[in-house]
Amino acid sequence: MKRAIYDEDHEAFRSSVKEFLDREVVPHLEEHVAEKAIPREFWTAAGKQGFLGLEIPEEYGGSAAGDYRFNAVLTEELAKVNMALPSCLGIHADIVAPYLVHLTTDEQKQRWLPGFCTGELLTAIGMTEPSGGSDLAALKTTAVRDGDDWVVNGSKTFITNGYSADLVIIAARTTPEKKARGITLFGVDGASEGFSRGRKLDKVGQDESDTSEIFLEDVRVSNDDIIGEVDNGFIHMMTFLPQERLGSAITNLAHAAQILDETLQYTKDRKAFGRSIGQFQHNKFLLADLYTRVEVTQAYVDQCVLAHTRGELTPIDAAKAKWWTAQVQNDVLDHCVQLHGGYGYMNEYRVARAWRDARVTKIWAGSNEIMKELIGRDLGL
Ligand SMILES: Cc1cc2nc3c(=O)[nH]c(=O)nc-3n(C[C@H](O)[C@H](O)[C@H](O)COP(=O)(O)OP(=O)(O)OC[C@H]3O[C@@H](n4cnc5c(N)ncnc54)[C@H](O)[C@@H]3O)c2cc1C
Repeated sequence: MKRAIYDEDHEAFRSSVKEFLDREVVPHLEEHVAEKAIPREFWTAAGKQGFLGLEIPEEYGGSAAGDYRFNAVLTEELAKVNMALPSCLGIHADIVAPYLVHLTTDEQKQRWLPGFCTGELLTAIGMTEPSGGSDLAALKTTAVRDGDDWVVNGSKTFITNGYSADLVIIAARTTPEKKARGITLFGVDGASEGFSRGRKLDKVGQDESDTSEIFLEDVRVSNDDIIGEVDNGFIHMMTFLPQERLGSAITNLAHAAQILDETLQYTKDRKAFGRSIGQFQHNKFLLADLYTRVEVTQAYVDQCVLAHTRGELTPIDAAKAKWWTAQVQNDVLDHCVQLHGGYGYMNEYRVARAWRDARVTKIWAGSNEIMKELIGRDLGL
């Protein structure tokens, strides 16, 4: 079905993203896997193209596009290449950006945003801790006031861009007796004394994305490093959830749709019993089923993109998009592996990596169970 949410400007932007990825990124994908990291050159090159500053005001080096559809186009094109690119770039440009634009002082904007746009200041966000991620309000990292400073102690885990980030938004407990209402966000410089990183975590998929632990041992931050209001960090995090969930949903679906297209071609080319394997009725019906699932899901995600562009996307509708697309993506990719036969199990085949890369989407950024819990509560249950 023809999609109707983008106009000429969005499609021109899509072409520029595609051209950039083909020229500067695709030739280096295997190096990213070997290094278990997306190199800084990627970030600065993306910065030069203006891809990191879509939400950042022009005075700080961004383009303040004011239209989420540009973010959506960028996410779709990255997801067609692999999962790691939209996840790493998305954390920086789609998830951290709103915090740094909407919750910061002028001085913080001056300090952080120009480098954020050029890719010289790479960011991450540390919410999850070894003791738990789903129950965010129970986080244990503390920040204790000491004059005009705060002393932060604790640890974070599974942090995307965590190994190389220059600035990490750290959620820490500032008022221990208040659960959700006692959390504050701090912009912590990765070079601070007492800030250290664990190894790059060895994941099932997305080898290219750097995911690491972060340890905070008597890290000193000042009032000037507080992002938003003291004790209001949980509310701030909830405020930006619709965009985080929508970005995940766009990624999930674009990634699955791309691999499904490649799989369709494979089923036309691959022969068994004298015919293309796609022509066997089982596989034909399966592909009809998978294409229908992807396109029907796309209609919902597109409505979410439009709603978010108007500033009307609710956290619950975004939760529906997030868990559903994760499920569709995982189902589709599992079938795509099956349709590739033994080749589908070989890492040198894109479909195999895509299947491994996608497994996490039902877990991160709020697991499918947590999304359903929220939707259930919204139903009055
Ligand atoms: C590759 C990767 C990258 C990540 N990047 C980041 C990042 O950049 N920043 C960050 O802060 N975090 C990040 N995360 C963390 C991620 O968001 C958490 O892993 C996720 O929120 C789940 O938390 P958990 O792992 O502690 O699982 P737990 O919270 O321990 O949950 C374990 C299981 O119990 C289920 N469960 C928990 N509570 C309920 C409930 N109430 N009802 C039903 N089931 C429940 C969960 O759904 C899950 O299946 C990343 C994770 C991964 C794997």
